[in-house]
Amino acid sequence: MKNVVGFGHASVRIDDPKLVVVLATGGTIAQDGARTATIGVETLLQLSGIDREVECLQLMQVTSPNIRPEHWLVLAEQVAIVAARPDVSGVVITHGTDTLEETAFFLDLTYRGTKPIVIVGAMRPSHSLESDGPLNLRHAIMLARSPEARNRGVLTVLNARVQAARDVTKRHSVDVDAFDSPNIGDVGAIENDKPRVAAPLDALPHFLLPSALPPIPVIYAYAGQEPETLSFLASARPPGLVFAGTGGGSIPDAILPTVQRAAQEGTIVVRSSRTGAGAVARNAEVDDDANGFVAAGTLNPQKARVLLMLCVAAGFDTRRTQEMFAKCSGATEFSTTGATR
Ligand code: ASP
Repeated sequence: MKNVVGFGHASVRIDDPKLVVVLATGGTIAQDGARTATIGVETLLQLSGIDREVECLQLMQVTSPNIRPEHWLVLAEQVAIVAARPDVSGVVITHGTDTLEETAFFLDLTYRGTKPIVIVGAMRPSHSLESDGPLNLRHAIMLARSPEARNRGVLTVLNARVQAARDVTKRHSVDVDAFDSPNIGDVGAIENDKPRVAAPLDALPHFLLPSALPPIPVIYAYAGQEPETLSFLASARPPGLVFAGTGGGSIPDAILPTVQRAAQEGTIVVRSSRTGAGAVARNAEVDDDANGFVAAGTLNPQKARVLLMLCVAAGFDTRRTQEMFAKCSGATEFSTTGATR
């Protein structure tokens, strides 16, 4: 389903394109109150009050807990195709908020262009009295059209806050102001209908789009964790796993041997933290050198999983994987100066 709205590209100068392509995937922004996404992208656009120089494509209509790596691959391909068009200024993706951060980070690691890619969602159905979707979409289109948003990697905009895919995370289950970037903060804002974006961040490494992504589980640490809960590792033998450790990425003594065994048998083990902010530094809490583990730096477990999937798909070993994590998140060595354990 493809629609050209308003002026389309005929009136657009190629050296200064204004056309924004909206790729719609579903989520609460496309809900009319029911639990499933049903509102089509043209209706969403009408609600946003923008009726010119926008083209829409309804790519899928799913709620984001059901987004899978296969969807990321479809989306990444579409983004590359659309962004390569000389008449296009930028791309907006409407998405459910639950896993928006994972899709955003995946695209950030695989998109090679400089045009703005903006992911947007909503915490309230778009037809509800208190809906945030239409305004969020309006802001996203403005951001995707803005020269200031070029060369900034993949951005998100919700509640007028512009955030970078590498750090943004959903940290409230119902509030309209549900997204934060706990380690680097917002990178911009929309004020009086005008986007403002900070200077570019350090470039992320970029991965070629693989044909498929490997299964990578996330194991969540808790007090009293029993080794039996990890018994699936012996039979599943995943190529990688992310351990959402306590505090600075700690692994309880009771299960450390099981995790060590998985690493010895070829699973790339990445230590992240369940705390939601701050870094997991290399060789802090756990001896990563001796165990052959990788420290996730500031990447939360779900983002660490996205990066690890791409590293495994690229055939990287533990050392190369650690390099990629350091590039994405500053997974620095532990220092005893002023540090607490
Ligand atoms: N469950 C919805 C989803 O992620 C929530 C939302 O979009 O806000 O698709």
